[in-house]
Parts: sequence; structure tokens; C-alpha cells
Amino acid sequence: MKTYAYGYPRLGKQREYKRLIEGYWKQEVTELQLREGLDRLERERLRIYHQAVDTYPIGEMTFYDAMLDHGLMFGLVPEAVADGLRVGRSWDAPLDLAAYYRLARGADAWEMTKWFNTNYHYLVPPISDQTEFRLVWAKPLLAWQQYQTGVPYLIGPYTFVALSKGYRPQALPQLLASLTAVYAELLRRCQQAGAPLVHVDEPALAGDVPQEHWPLIRQTYQQLAEAAPILLFTYYDTPADWDTLWQLPVRGFGLDLIHSGGAATVQQSTVSALVSALQRHPLRPDQILVLGVVNGRNIWKTSLQRTADYLRQIQHAAQAEIWISNAAPLSHLPVSVASEEKMEPALRQRLAFADERLTELRLLQRLVTNTSASAEKDAELQQWNAYPPPPASWRQETVRQRLASLKGEDFRRPTDYAQRDRLQRQRLRLPLFPTTTIGSFPQTEEVRRMRNAFKNGRISAPEYDQFIREQIRHVVQVQEEIGLDVLVHGEFERSDMVEFFAEKLDGIALTQQGWVLSYGTRVYRPPIIYGDVVRTRPMTVQEITFAQSLTSRPMKGMLTGPVTILAWSFVREDVPLREVAWQIALALQDEVRDLEAAGIAVIQIDEPAFREMAPLRRHRWPEYFDWAVKAFRLASRAQPHTQIHTHMCYSEFNEILPYIEQLDADVITIEATRSKGEVIEAFERHSYPRQIGPGVYDVHSPAVPSVESIVAILRRVARIIPPERIWVNPDCGLKTRRWEEVLPALRHLVQAASQLRQEHQHR
Ligand code: GLN
Ligand code: ZN
Repeated sequence: MKTYAYGYPRLGKQREYKRLIEGYWKQEVTELQLREGLDRLERERLRIYHQAVDTYPIGEMTFYDAMLDHGLMFGLVPEAVADGLRVGRSWDAPLDLAAYYRLARGADAWEMTKWFNTNYHYLVPPISDQTEFRLVWAKPLLAWQQYQTGVPYLIGPYTFVALSKGYRPQALPQLLASLTAVYAELLRRCQQAGAPLVHVDEPALAGDVPQEHWPLIRQTYQQLAEAAPILLFTYYDTPADWDTLWQLPVRGFGLDLIHSGGAATVQQSTVSALVSALQRHPLRPDQILVLGVVNGRNIWKTSLQRTADYLRQIQHAAQAEIWISNAAPLSHLPVSVASEEKMEPALRQRLAFADERLTELRLLQRLVTNTSASAEKDAELQQWNAYPPPPASWRQETVRQRLASLKGEDFRRPTDYAQRDRLQRQRLRLPLFPTTTIGSFPQTEEVRRMRNAFKNGRISAPEYDQFIREQIRHVVQVQEEIGLDVLVHGEFERSDMVEFFAEKLDGIALTQQGWVLSYGTRVYRPPIIYGDVVRTRPMTVQEITFAQSLTSRPMKGMLTGPVTILAWSFVREDVPLREVAWQIALALQDEVRDLEAAGIAVIQIDEPAFREMAPLRRHRWPEYFDWAVKAFRLASRAQPHTQIHTHMCYSEFNEILPYIEQLDADVITIEATRSKGEVIEAFERHSYPRQIGPGVYDVHSPAVPSVESIVAILRRVARIIPPERIWVNPDCGLKTRRWEEVLPALRHLVQAASQLRQEHQHR
């Protein structure tokens, strides 16, 4: 059995990727340094692959995002940028980087949205019914020629079209046909250049593929298979029906055997289903089955003996060649556990990040190939899963009992929305089109420096608290001066909205170097939920009440919701997700009570990951949304006169509106600018009976929105939603922006709101 790995993180051990690209943006790194730096990073990745596994893809490296690259490869370039694309000899040569980054994050930025059910955001290729694709950049081929190793890597045509936007469903056949011709040309060139295989990712085939798409997909792959031998990868789930997949005439299939039906480890039932599919429909001996059996999405070590047994079962049933691989790209994992020197050994011994996954592939290969007698003598193998049982402190009876005694009413607010709305209006006395922000304000260099100084013990806790207070004082003043109605404290004490709470809750650990890319160069460190989650003391009350003491306007309490804490962490697999979610929800409920007791009238519970956690397959949605909605309701079970806000960004709202309604939040603020009103259209079709703040300012771009552009969005919204239910706000937190951008943008926002107020008061 050969080993194959893909998706190894491009970030680098020291986050070199981030530093290089951001350095280039700040003009501290020259274009040449950037190109050379990424080349070095890529060579290092290839060296790591090469040491650990037999084969791996080539061409995964990108200056920002793989979907953006594919869009450019296939000619989706605005006229203004097209000049910048020239044909070159190395993989990056054709790129005019200034033009490239304009599409990634500048004035011409493509919309950004979540990649399947992960926390990675990709850039959405803008195509239309009429798009004709052409090959302008043979990136994987150039990479293959440059590095002379591996298997050229591509995102597949079906996934590419399925994830692009701007066309009507009926145009899909012709778009796919046009794209297929381009892929065929590219594949042919790879084949002519001597590439042994081509790696094609089609994660969309693991979701719900509409029945009528299958004949199109078959046609596509018939054409592509003639051009080159393909390894076709699906992941994040298993395709609904193996037999249909096998009909694609490719050389091999890459399968994710872990995330089948939402499981967290390989299940015997998945193995048995695969075995019987292989018996029904044997693959040919010259075909390859790449079995994803080590987890690319979670960090718990693989049980090697059990997995080896599964591999043998499949090998026994399959005539095809078996390769051992990861399930889902390794890019969702931090680089190496070795960097976690300070972590509790009982936890560290249980973990496997990307490097350790490669080790597991190597060990599995040895385990399956060798006899069991030699495996017993293999010290490395023996040690891998030999960690002690979980320490007793990971279990907390109080929260388990609380969970066990929950009743139906614990998941409901005692008063209905109409009544709450009345009480809240009396209490808050807000104008029409009230203005607010989503929570964070610019995290300046100074804020980061002081936080690091505090963490490294260079300044004392009182000094740090004092600094945070000054920041809060400043941001409150700024908001009052601009004239915002509901204020925030700015979140200066928080490095990250999940990490902050993780740090304060029992049962969750942080890593030192466990960085993962969430989009572009943006990284975060997912916490690790390893035990029962318990709140031991208030987490936010001090800062919020201080902020409230500075103003007579309402100050929003700011919490991260249970589903988002779960989604952006690595989660234990020994209890059901729902239990972990509800444990976190109970901790947040206690926080809500404390904020209310301190006089806070508005509390926002952010749930940007509410949509992304949903399973890929629709038929599993009701089960997920049932526990996810309940988790939010448990956390937000506030008094009737407390106004509960929630915030979500980059969600595909249309599909989940009924569930959003079930959250029973009084106000929801959402993304609406980058998707150009698509979100608003969703509300056009499904009336939302509560208050809503469509984001009128795209915080992911440094551009300052004009008053007119904001007014235009608001007028459009006001045609669909009654004015007394509309809030005016940016579409996400402002922490990544600079003050110079934020101040004028918020002024424009307030001006736009007052213009709308005037327009509506005259009616
Ligand atoms: N309150 C958070 C902030 O403003 C929300 C961030 C998010 O939705 N991702 O930063
Ligand atoms: Zn947001």
C-alpha cells in the first residue's frame, strides 16, 4: 500500500506565509522577496511530503486562495486586470500581483464565503450565464514543471461551477461544458509534459448532488478521462451513492472514510458499505482507491490498530490498488504538535496535527504491510496510542447534572417576541433606523503589543487593565461623537472571539502555535475542547459594565455563541456534539444573567458559524439545527426586557431562514454588502418577523463606503422590511480595519441612517 497526503498547511511553521504576504501589502517586502519566499515555503512543504509519503499533489501553493487562482486560470479576469496576465515559465510568473490582490481584497474584491462546512473562506468566482472559459494560466502544469515532482493539483470543474455565483441554474450545463473543454486542454498538457496522474478535488460530489447533474458530471469526466489519468477526490463526507461515483471513468478515487454521515472517526458501517459497493461494482486492478483514514479536520490521534484492520477489510474486497491517505485536506490542521511545549502532557499525547498525520500515514503503512508479530515489536507503533486514561479533572459532575435535568421550558424565553419588543422599546427608546456596530474596533499595533507584553509578563495585570480601560474610554467617546445609538466596548481585551472565551472556560485548552488559515492570510488558533466545559467566574462583566458606566446610551454585552465556539474549536469526540454545545450554552447563560444583573439592556450573542456547522447533506439538517437552535436558546434565555441580538456573516441565508427564526433573537445583524443584496432577496422571499440589521458596509475591504451606497442599500431593505424593524450597521466586526477607514465609514453610516429617518418621518 502506498501513502498519499494532500492539503499540507501552506502557512509555514513560523507563519511565514502570513508575514510575507502582509509584508508585501505594507510594502516592507518586495515583490521579488514575496515570490522567492513563497517558493521557499513551497519547497519546504514538498520536502515534508517527500519524507513522509510516497506521493502528493503539486500546485497547491497560492498567493491568496485556490478558487481565485482557478478563476484566473480559466479567464475570469476583468478587463482592467487582464493585461497583467502573461504566460510565464514558473507557476507564479503570469501574475500581476497588484492586480491579483485587488481581486482578493481590494476595490474589485470577489465575494468571500465559507468553503463547504469548514471555517475556511474562499473567493467566489463571479460568472454569468454567458461566461466562456478559456485557459489563460496553466498553474498546476507550471508548478509541476518547476518542481518536477508530485501530481498536478486542480479543483474539479463541477465543484468550481457549483461554488461560483452569478448564473442561473439552467445555465449550468453549458457552463460546465465550456469549462470541461478548458480542463481537458490543461489535463492534456499535463499528460504531455509527463505528469503521471492529475489530482482533481470534487468535494461538491460529497454533498447533495441534484439528480439531473449526474449525467453532466459523467459527460465531463468522460471527456477529462480521455485527456489524462485522474485521481478524483471527494471529502467532508462520502458521496451519497458509491455506485454512481464508480461510473466515472477515472483512474482512481480519493475517499473520506471519516466524515461519512457526520461521523468523527472511521465507522465499521462505512467500511462495510464500501466493501459491499466494491463487491457490487468491482474496480479494475489498474484503478486506485485512495482511502482517507486519518482526520484532516480534527486533532485526535488515529487509533492505528483499528484503522489498519479497516484497511485490510477493504483491501481484501477490492481488486484496485489501495493507497492510504488523509480524510479532508490537512490544511484545516495546525502544523505540528511539537511546538506545544507548554501543553499538559495528558492532552498533548493524544493529539495529531498535520505533521503527526503524516507520521500516522507512515505508521499505518508499516502496520498494514508488516505481519502482526513485527508490529508488536515496533516501538514507535506501540507508543503512538499508548497514552494514559483521561485525568479525573476533565469530568465535571455539576454540569453533567445540570444538563441531565434540562426541560423543554429551559429552551424557551418565557415571553413572546411581540411583548418583549414592547418592553424593550420602552426601555431603550431608540430612534427609527438605530445604528450600531458588530462589536470589535480596530485592533491596532499598540493593542496587540500591550496584550503580548501582558502575556509575557512584561506588564502587570493592573497595568494591562488600565490600558484596556483607556481603549474602552476612547471608543465610547468616538461612538458618542459619531452619533451611534447602541454602543459597544470594542473588544480590545479579546485577541479572538472564540479564543477569549476558551481561555476563561474550564475544559478548553489553548495552543501556543496551533495556527490555521481562515481566509487569505488571516489565521486563528482553534482552542481544544477536551473535557466538560464549566464557567468558574464572570467572563465579560467587568469590561462591559465599565463601558456602560461611561455613557447613557445602551452598551451591548458581547458574547460568542455556543455553536460558534464549537465550530471554531477542535472538539472532543467522546461525547455527542450536542452535549458539548449545551455545556457551553449553560456557561453563557450564566454570563447573560450576570450581565442583566449588572444593568446591561442589550446583549449580542454572535453565531457566525451557525450555517457552516450544518451537515453537507440536507437530510441531516433537522437533527443538527435542532440541537444548534436549542443551544442558542439555552444561552440566550434572558429576561423579556433584555434585547438579544445575534450576528452572522457569510451565511447562505435563504436556506436557513426558518432556523434563524427559531433562534428567537430580537435582532439579527447579517452580512449583505459583498453578496450584493442576495441576502436581502432571501428576506424578500421569507418574511422575518423580528428586527434585522443588514450589513451596509463591507468590513473585509479597506474601501470606505459612500453615504449614497449605504442609503441605496437601506432604501432597498426598507421596501421589504418595515422601517421600524431595520437596524443600520457594518456587516461584521471592525477589528481588522484601521481607524482611518473606520471613522469616515461610520460617519457615513450614521448620515445614511439619518437620511433614511427623514425620508420616513415625512410619510
Ligand atoms: N463581535 C465580533 C466582532 O465584532 C463578531 C465577529 C464575527 O462575526 N466574526 O469582531
Ligand atoms: Zn461577522
